[in-house]
Amino acid sequence: MGLQDIQDRIAKAAKAAHRQKDAVTLIAVSKVQPNERVESILQAGHRVFGENKVQEAAGKWPAFRQQFDAIDLHLIGPLQTNKARLAMELAQSIHTLDRPKLANTLARLAQEIGSCPDLFIQVNTGEEPQKSGVLPQDSDAFIAEARALDLPVKGLMCIPPIDEEPSLHFALLAKIAERNGLSGLSMGMSSDFESAIALGATHVRVGSAIFGDRVYE
Ligand SMILES: *Cc1c(COP(=O)(O)O)cnc(C)c1O
Repeated sequence: MGLQDIQDRIAKAAKAAHRQKDAVTLIAVSKVQPNERVESILQAGHRVFGENKVQEAAGKWPAFRQQFDAIDLHLIGPLQTNKARLAMELAQSIHTLDRPKLANTLARLAQEIGSCPDLFIQVNTGEEPQKSGVLPQDSDAFIAEARALDLPVKGLMCIPPIDEEPSLHFALLAKIAERNGLSGLSMGMSSDFESAIALGATHVRVGSAIFGDRVYE
C-alpha cells in the first residue's frame, strides 16, 4: 500500500518484462478520495492523477493547480458530450473515447479551442452490455474514424470483466493497438497492474492501492 510501494512494484514489473520503468506512467486515481489524501500524494511529488467524473474533477483540481504545478490530469470515466468542453479544459488526457458522437464533438471543440487532450479509445474487450467502449470487432474502424477527424489518438484503454482473467483482455487490447500502430495502452488497476505491465501497459490506473479504500457516502 502507498505511493512508494506501488512505484517499487511498477519498477519491478517493468524490469521483469525487460521494459524501462519510465515506460509506464502511474495514474493515481483520486476519485472519491478525501482531499487530504490527495494532497499528501501531491506533497510527495506525484503529479499524474485520474478522475472518473468531470464534475468531481472540476470541483477539486483547479484549486490543487493553484497550489501545485505541472499537474497531469487524466479523465478515465464515461464522458457525456455535454460535458466534453469542460473535460477538455480540465484534463490533459481523456481515456474514454468510445463512440462516434463523442468523437465528432471532441473534433469540433478541438477546432474551436485550438487544442485537444491526448485521447485513448476505450475498448469493451469483454463485450459486456453494461460497459462502455467499442467492441473489439469494431475497433479498427473506429480508430480510423477518429484519426480521420484529426483527433490525437494515443492509444487504447480497457477495463476487464470483474470475474475473468485480466491478462486475456490485456493481450487482446495490446494486439488491437499493435495492428493499428498505437503505442499507448491504458490498462491495469490496483489488483492487476503488474500483469498489465507484463503485457505492455504504458499507463496503469491505480486508486485504492495508493490511497486506501474509497468510502462512498
Ligand atoms: C476507479 C478506477 C480505477 C482504479 O481502481 P482501483 O481498483 O482502486 O485501483 C481504474 N480505472 C478506472 C476506469 C476506474 O474507474
